[in-house]
Amino acid sequence: MWQWGGNVLRYGGVGASCVKEGDELYQLKPLKTYALEAVRDDGLCMTRMERMLDALGRSVGDIEWISEGNLPEVVEELSGLWPPEEDEVPEGTPPTFMRPLVFTKVHTGEELPDIADKLQGWPDNTDEGTVRAILGQFKATQAYHPYERDQEENRVCWPTWDFATMMGCPHGCHYCGHGKTGKFITVGLNLEEFMEVVVPRTIAKYPWQKCFRMIGWSAEMISFEPEYGCFDLYTRKLAEYDRYGYFHAASSNVDWIADLPRKDRLIAIFSVTCEAVAREIEPGTGHAFDRFEAGRKCNEFGVPVRYKFKPMIPVHNWREEYARAIERALEVSEPESVGFCVIMWMSLEMLGTRIDLDLLDPEYLEAARDAAEEMEGNVCGPFPHHVRKEVYQYLIEQVRRWDDEVLLYVSTESREMWDELSGELGQDPKAFFCGCSSVAVPGRKLSLSEGCPHSTYAALE
Ligand code: SF4
Repeated sequence: MWQWGGNVLRYGGVGASCVKEGDELYQLKPLKTYALEAVRDDGLCMTRMERMLDALGRSVGDIEWISEGNLPEVVEELSGLWPPEEDEVPEGTPPTFMRPLVFTKVHTGEELPDIADKLQGWPDNTDEGTVRAILGQFKATQAYHPYERDQEENRVCWPTWDFATMMGCPHGCHYCGHGKTGKFITVGLNLEEFMEVVVPRTIAKYPWQKCFRMIGWSAEMISFEPEYGCFDLYTRKLAEYDRYGYFHAASSNVDWIADLPRKDRLIAIFSVTCEAVAREIEPGTGHAFDRFEAGRKCNEFGVPVRYKFKPMIPVHNWREEYARAIERALEVSEPESVGFCVIMWMSLEMLGTRIDLDLLDPEYLEAARDAAEEMEGNVCGPFPHHVRKEVYQYLIEQVRRWDDEVLLYVSTESREMWDELSGELGQDPKAFFCGCSSVAVPGRKLSLSEGCPHSTYAALE
């Protein structure tokens, strides 16, 4: 676990690479902290940054300011600063907790500016993504699972527009490309402006969307609360428009929610797993069961809780591991829904570059090897349909041992999977209540309308 000073910013538990005892807390230790010069002229941004630095035991004096003049050097430095040498990593600290932090202001315009001029004369191998991140020129909103794309890719989900004020994550989960290799974390500080400009504009453009994820791009946004102060502003703004906001987290840092004046606008989505996966594959997320305790606290705060076993990773003994996790989840908390998604989105070869394949159930690994050709280009790969189905059936059975009511779903799965499992799941693939859907309002209700009449199981007429 890490903690930013006093009662702030904590991650639950520890992973294999950072063995510590019990509930001991430890701090995020960025190798360096940078800020864009534009932050200096904005009182609200400065206050937010100072608050976060203070929690880290740092101050504005520790900041390296980034201007036009030193931008190329900073870009170069960021490309090599992280990861640290092994002997630079304090005992018990996951190296991913040492990612440099870059404070900036998020671009709130609709289109990102062209920066070709700015890059003229720079080395050919300059990473434009790094330059844009420093300048805060990353997308403030992004579409996920539009109907057309899900039809092409044969996936079933809900169309949605997500928000981001942050990029990068300290968790370092091995299955996540950015989490494993990202060089730094970008923190947008102009949240007041974001809430005034980006949120209302997006709601006006997509009035059918009732619930919006504040998710960041490969980020773990709640880990930076309450110092960051994003969800307070976000929930207040959503309340003005009668909308709801999700956090989407593998962190168990939720105590700050108790003090949110508009927590009635918040929905908690936890990406959950079993202890073996948290220990071996998610070095910074903490103990798997901490997230169920966080779910219990959210129940206490009156905030709806939804769990996603996503990615579900079929490790050795996965049946026992996941059965224990499900039992604990339902013993300590009352989720509105529980969903499943076997790790997908990549080939077996790609998966092998991210996680140690020896951790996987040997029978399923073999099945994935055998199916490699057949699964080529299938976004639900590398595990073939029959393996994924077997996993889902087992997980459904485990949930039903403890709870007859909780709503079940498979997340971003194929149409065929829904066709075969809708009976066992007990939900209609065109109108299922899941986790972070754009229309899944609190109370296990769907807010369907002309703009979003059904899931992406079917094309939009
Ligand atoms: S929980 Fe629902 S909306 Fe969210 S990714 Fe899964 S299927 Fe899509």
